[in-house]
Amino acid sequence: MTLVAGVLALQGDIEEHVHALERALKELNISFRIMLVKKVEQLSNIDLITIPGGESTTIGFLSRKTGLIDRLKERIEDGLPVLGTCAGMVMMAREVRDAVVGETSQPLLAVMDISVIRNIFGRQRESFEIDLKIPAIGDRPFRAVFIRAPAAIRCWNDAQPLATLRHEKYGELVVMVRQRNMLACAFHPELVLDTRVHKYFITEVAGFPQR
Ligand code: GLN
Repeated sequence: MTLVAGVLALQGDIEEHVHALERALKELNISFRIMLVKKVEQLSNIDLITIPGGESTTIGFLSRKTGLIDRLKERIEDGLPVLGTCAGMVMMAREVRDAVVGETSQPLLAVMDISVIRNIFGRQRESFEIDLKIPAIGDRPFRAVFIRAPAAIRCWNDAQPLATLRHEKYGELVVMVRQRNMLACAFHPELVLDTRVHKYFITEVAGFPQR
């Protein structure tokens, strides 16, 4: 069987997501095909999806315009495995605020029980890299790249924090979180060559065994 890996291809670092999936799936020896998802019909043919980083307001409005938002939400609620990074994490959250402007009333998938603040690291630290401890993927720290990143200030129900960072104002922030078939990262695992987050997504969250 060939796994069909979708990438929501409306805006953002789509190509990087494609390449990261390719690297991880090759390392896992899984036969696959990538599908750039731009239309509702394509959602029926995919086995998992990733939502790129970029601008969550743009991704949200384009998802609404194309009609993808409702059908994708349904598919995820039916169990379609999803990995969202940065703006993708924002799209998945049930509650979103911006650190500066507050309420954003942007279109969201609102599938994950997390409360997210956009641009939480502010201007001073808009972008930074850090060696992040993520016990779920092993002992070796993961080089996490944060770019105008969000973070979750609250997770509820069975949304499980997998990595946290301390913030002066907000205290402990959740920067990686899993809930059943959903995985969200505030950073960009697609921008580094380390494939462990993607492999975790494919094997543990999506449940496709390494061949
Ligand atoms: N700040 C962006 C947003 O809130 C996310 C940035 C990113 O994806 N690198 O949509």
